[in-house]
Amino acid sequence: MSGVSKSVQQPESAKRQPTPAEVLATPVEFVRGVGPQRAELLAKLEVRTAGDLVFFFPRDYQDLTDRREIADLQEDALQTVRGEVVEVDARSSGFGKSVVGVLVRQGHDHLRAIWFNQPFMREKFREGQHVLLSAKPRFRGGRWEMPHPRVTWLDGAEDQPEMRLLPLYPLTEGVTQYQMRRMVASAVENFGHVLEEVFPDALLRRYDLMPLAEALSAIHSPQDAEQLERARRRFVFQELFVLQLAVVARRWQQQVGFRAPPLAASADINARIERLFPFELTAGQRMAMHDVAADMARETPMNRLLQGDVGSGKTVIAVYAMLLCVARGHQAALMAPTEILARQHAETLGGLLRVSRVRYLLLVGGMTAKEREAALAEIAAGRIDLVIGTHALLQEDVQFAKLGLVVIDEQHKFGVRQRATLRQGEKSPHYLVMTATPIPRTISMTLFGDLDVTTLREMPPGRQEVRTYVVQPNEQDRWWHFVREKLRAGRQAYVVAPLVDESENIAAASVSAAFERLTNGELAAFRVGIIHGRMTPAEKEHTMAEFRTGRTHVLVSTSVIEVGVDVPNACIMVIDSPERFGLAQLHQLRGRVGRGKLAAFCGVLASDDASEQARERLSAFAATSDGFELAEMDFQLRGPGDLFGTQQHGLPPLRIADLRRDQAILEEARREAQSLFAADPGLKQSEHTRLRRQMLVRYGNALELGDVG
Ligand code: ADP
Ligand code: MG
Repeated sequence: MSGVSKSVQQPESAKRQPTPAEVLATPVEFVRGVGPQRAELLAKLEVRTAGDLVFFFPRDYQDLTDRREIADLQEDALQTVRGEVVEVDARSSGFGKSVVGVLVRQGHDHLRAIWFNQPFMREKFREGQHVLLSAKPRFRGGRWEMPHPRVTWLDGAEDQPEMRLLPLYPLTEGVTQYQMRRMVASAVENFGHVLEEVFPDALLRRYDLMPLAEALSAIHSPQDAEQLERARRRFVFQELFVLQLAVVARRWQQQVGFRAPPLAASADINARIERLFPFELTAGQRMAMHDVAADMARETPMNRLLQGDVGSGKTVIAVYAMLLCVARGHQAALMAPTEILARQHAETLGGLLRVSRVRYLLLVGGMTAKEREAALAEIAAGRIDLVIGTHALLQEDVQFAKLGLVVIDEQHKFGVRQRATLRQGEKSPHYLVMTATPIPRTISMTLFGDLDVTTLREMPPGRQEVRTYVVQPNEQDRWWHFVREKLRAGRQAYVVAPLVDESENIAAASVSAAFERLTNGELAAFRVGIIHGRMTPAEKEHTMAEFRTGRTHVLVSTSVIEVGVDVPNACIMVIDSPERFGLAQLHQLRGRVGRGKLAAFCGVLASDDASEQARERLSAFAATSDGFELAEMDFQLRGPGDLFGTQQHGLPPLRIADLRRDQAILEEARREAQSLFAADPGLKQSEHTRLRRQMLVRYGNALELGDVG
């Protein structure tokens, strides 16, 4: 037994009163009614301390609202009946099968509760008990039955529980709802009293938040739906507020804790850079450049997220920022998520910088050890101005002489934590993060809450709307006929094959299968290339070059071409098994075409067995070309996990808040966290001590907050 729990159980022998945090840290096995065996089961639910149990929130509630007289029951709707147990019987039907029946009386009416293969249920009932039974009843052989009802045992005829909503907790094998309810209730009863309100009074009043003690009891045993909603709101607010405090704290820490080189623009520098582009910049691009220049002129590191739909021209902003950095005598790095993209960026830059003295270098796999060593030496000596590579660039052992800026392209798969690791010591470069996956506001406020956001809303002129069709199984012949016509007219096409599994092996197999099928069938007359994650960088580059130069007509691919690839003559995108992709991802894929002057087409090949929801998503996709709208829809349909990869962002999961449902509370919490932090930077005032502690306990690690104060 640990010292802490000893002192809890024998407070008179303790030298000092344990703090509330210490009390709550009591191992859960010492909560009355838990014990070592159940503690092991609870650990599977991440419940390890008394405090965890106190804050183990129900996932749902059993609605006992619809209480009926037996005479008024209806089949097939959840209802609750109160009655007295008059008979308990158990029958065995051989082969270990059993039926337990419990006859319940209510006035002159009877109802039989039955359980199949749960012989232990028999032991739970005694004649004369008063119970509440909830289930969908059925009328069989002239009387009412409830199979496997939920049971609440009452304390005799006098016990008339007012509770209409019974909490239902997440469970693990070996723990029943009833036991869980008892354990939580015991924890709340014996440990709840040490909890202290984390919110200052004024804040509770301003947001009309239920005080902690009341909310705790209400969330575990609400009197009615309204009280439950208020209790839930309080905890959601608390959770999101603490998260927002952490995000604000992180930002603040970056600003006071890190110094970046100020890299101011000038009219002359701007003019020289703009001359490099073969087109007029859009108004949105100008505004974005302005934001970036203002950030980079400061001594605090820029942390800006540039979001813009596919094809909105984000590269221009990246190039501007990098050349500004170089003009001010510093090095810049551009990181792309794939080698293909890195190479493409290098090519774009090569084109733009033909007549300039800027020295740039592509650092990717496939270099010989010697080449690589030489490249690293050049970078370390400051003889290279721009380095282009993959996201691994800065995690590897690359030493820059004078790094002033890092641009991260297509960063939606990376979260806060990854960015943190790019920083070394007190010195920080400026950061520009770009994403083509429009980020729903609730997500950008959480995962990317420490970034300033610039959004490119308009498209450069001349960009084609991609005409999108949902191709039904019986329309596929016609579709391929159409594709062949376009190919004959000199156009090119992508075919994206399904990613059957995350495993690259299987993905490669499915792409190879599609390749076989097409080259022997629909596309037999054309030159078809194939690209997937199992190929070596050299093979990939070769395949891409063949496609770029038009030697192959069609490129069969996994979604590795999802991001950034730019081949203007490719104007057809075919997506096989589109149900497997999120809307945002489909939109990315579609964004590969329509880049030149040519009319562009996207066909998604619907499967026969697609669900209703999948069909709806596909028609929504065909109907709108607005990536922001699609991202929002995706988010509503599939939740945040799919957009960002559940584990990738590195933040602990939310316990009660739901970013879809609780957007309004999130906005409130964010505003309040900002103003509270502004009034008390570092949360040093004593009335904020508890908030500060919560923030550090929960997010200190994930956000590398250190000790904020
Ligand atoms: P994304 O935002 O998806 O990264 P890119 O930066 O690759 O988009 O730009 C898409 C295409 O639009 C490129 O071919 C680029 O040269 C072109 N482009 C960018 N800005 C303009 C502009 N202001 N006018 C015309 N074309 C532009
Ligand atoms: Mg791009």
